[in-house]
Amino acid sequence: MTLTVPTTYKALTESTAIALAKVVHPFDGDARLTCREIGDGNLNYVFQIEDPQTGKRLIIKQALPYAKVIGESWPLTLKRATIEANVLRKHGEFVPSLVPAVYATDEELAITVMEDLSHLEIAREGLVNGKNFPRLSQDIGEYLAETLFHTSDYGLHPFEKKGLAAEFSNPELCKITEDLVFTDPFFDVETNDYEPQLQPAVEAIWNDRKLQLEVAKLKKSFLTESEALLHGDLHTGSIFASQTETKVIDPEFGFYGPIGFDVGLFLANLMFQSITREDGDRQVIVDHIEKTWEVFASRFTELWKTESVESFKETEGYLEYVLEKVLTDAAGFAGCELIRRTIGLAHVKDLDSIEDTEKRIHFKKQALRAGQALILKRQQTASIGDVLQILEEAHT
Ligand code: ADP
Ligand code: MG
Repeated sequence: MTLTVPTTYKALTESTAIALAKVVHPFDGDARLTCREIGDGNLNYVFQIEDPQTGKRLIIKQALPYAKVIGESWPLTLKRATIEANVLRKHGEFVPSLVPAVYATDEELAITVMEDLSHLEIAREGLVNGKNFPRLSQDIGEYLAETLFHTSDYGLHPFEKKGLAAEFSNPELCKITEDLVFTDPFFDVETNDYEPQLQPAVEAIWNDRKLQLEVAKLKKSFLTESEALLHGDLHTGSIFASQTETKVIDPEFGFYGPIGFDVGLFLANLMFQSITREDGDRQVIVDHIEKTWEVFASRFTELWKTESVESFKETEGYLEYVLEKVLTDAAGFAGCELIRRTIGLAHVKDLDSIEDTEKRIHFKKQALRAGQALILKRQQTASIGDVLQILEEAHT
């Protein structure tokens, strides 16, 4: 049976995905391929194609022309597939071992054909089940430093940087972050989602005028600071991990934004674990938070010293200023992420999977307290130790 591959946009089926796989990637001519749709989201299809004879596998991810958030469909640009593939390729120039290999793309079909990573586990799943992934902070610290430095004005000629900033303009996906992370959770908006027991804590957030002002400043930074090519959605559900490997996937929210956003989002998602774990299991997460920052800062410093194209690179205090700003921004963005994942539209399994209601509410209140404190005290953080101290204080 020969199958024709669609040439204009059409949602793939398992059989057209197989036909496509044969065209785009060298499988043995008469291999009898199998295919399963394994995506878990509402935004995209993820087809896993396998030659059962050889065990060879690949992934075809296809964007769907809508997003089914808020219960109803709304149109969402297919261009995000191209953005995702191109971010994977661009970041792969600097950290090839930390992203999946991209084998082929088709802008019209909104597909990315890439390396299959199903020998690994989504980091959030593993963490929720008590795994620790010893390489996680080392690898993500390096990923952050390498990708963010090399796509910034410190690493690129200004023409090249602005060319990339234009190529990676991603207004529709940014709007989702602007609404869901930086706006809706801070107002009484219908799409917010939280247990009635949290009502007083939530109202305290809506009525805290100091907090509102600080969130407005963080949102402004997200809207206006085109520092580097971000992943844009670097939570632990966008990371595959094992004891020996780490791979970052799913950069469809990629765009030119503030460096601290990727750093802060990742740290916040570790913080959910530091909040929910029992005392004896918490330290390993605290160590991951600390190490992520330390690896990021030391690799960024090394790159600055050896590869920076910035004329002021040797000006005393400038690198320190840049890193301090990344840390304070990261603390603030982490605070927004902690709050929005607790009371906003999109939640995290780390909190929601806790069956004991009293415990869950307790941890959620703690996440809200930590989030508020990180936002309000971020300017006073001179080191990652200060960030951890704020987190610790929310425990009591
Ligand atoms: P979405 O953008 O819809 O969230 P993701 O890129 O996060 O899509 O992928 C959804 C799921 O599909 C992942 O959680 C993972 O289980 C699976 N998946 C995605 N990419 C790969 C891959 N390269 N290898 C194996 N599984 C993958
Ligand atoms: Mg995803």
